[in-house]
Amino acid sequence: MKILNALLGAATAVSLFAASASAQTYPERTITMVVPFSAGGPTDTVARLVAESMSKDLGQQIIVENVGGAGGTLGAGRVAQADPDGYTLLLHHIGMATSATLYRKLAYDTLNAFEYVGLVTEVPMTIVARKDFEPTDLKGLIEHVKANKDTVTVANAGIGAASHLCGMMFMSAIETPLTTVPYKGTGPAMTDLLGGQVDIMCDQTTNTTKQIQGGTIKAYAVTSPQRLKIFPDLPTAEEAGLSGFQVGIWHGIYAPKGTPAEVTDRLSKSLQKALKDENVVARFGELGTEPSSEADATPAALKAKLESEIGRWKPVIEAAGQYAD
Ligand code: ASP
Repeated sequence: MKILNALLGAATAVSLFAASASAQTYPERTITMVVPFSAGGPTDTVARLVAESMSKDLGQQIIVENVGGAGGTLGAGRVAQADPDGYTLLLHHIGMATSATLYRKLAYDTLNAFEYVGLVTEVPMTIVARKDFEPTDLKGLIEHVKANKDTVTVANAGIGAASHLCGMMFMSAIETPLTTVPYKGTGPAMTDLLGGQVDIMCDQTTNTTKQIQGGTIKAYAVTSPQRLKIFPDLPTAEEAGLSGFQVGIWHGIYAPKGTPAEVTDRLSKSLQKALKDENVVARFGELGTEPSSEADATPAALKAKLESEIGRWKPVIEAAGQYAD
């Protein structure tokens, strides 16, 4: 027994040594950043901007891989099961917190399956519709939707997506359930909104700004507490009559549980640099958002945010009584 324990101890020491030696030389090869939604959508846009900048600092390419489906839980599950070596990361948003309650069964334990790198950004949402949808303002939209509740369709990126959360908040605020159309991300949902196959959507400015500015979709309100610089004429949902309707979509970067702290710290430093990169700051600004602060782009800040957001949304979701199996 003593010999066995000694052997096991030696083996553990060797593997710890190997892990810390490789953490010191990290990264030595291409890193994959999983985005749990389709390419071309808002989460993908944020991830690609940040990944490109972090790649320069890390001296290794970061490839973005889109693993959409089930409101972001498929992609998160993939990363939860990846090797904890720093070469597979996850960039996810508020859905990481809401899905912990929305899903009765998840393939991972949200609070115990990941290490944390840091917060990236918090993005406002916009309530939008296809270009030729009749209502011209939020009040008119609410009246129209209530009067046509059997035919109006709402696009979202599946249960657990930000668009699902915002759509759920909208339906509950106007006390009118509507038919939802789930996609693997709001990139393809936007394509259908532009094509007129679906009526309305609530989605991040990182996906809707170009279309709102180009007049290819109609916008009714933003979900931020104040109006946005990029849309000075667009009212907040609160101003337009939906009292208390506010939601910001925070994004964070995670690594599988067991990834060495040296690695997550290195990634966090790199994230902090990326969030000061002129190009990232400028593009975020054009898309109606701004980078998280240096203090927030840390493992501790993301961990605290996830824990508090799970607590914040749990009672809201339980009251709505909408779950996925
Ligand atoms: N972030 C979007 C949502 O949650 C989906 C996406 O990024 O495509 O609805």
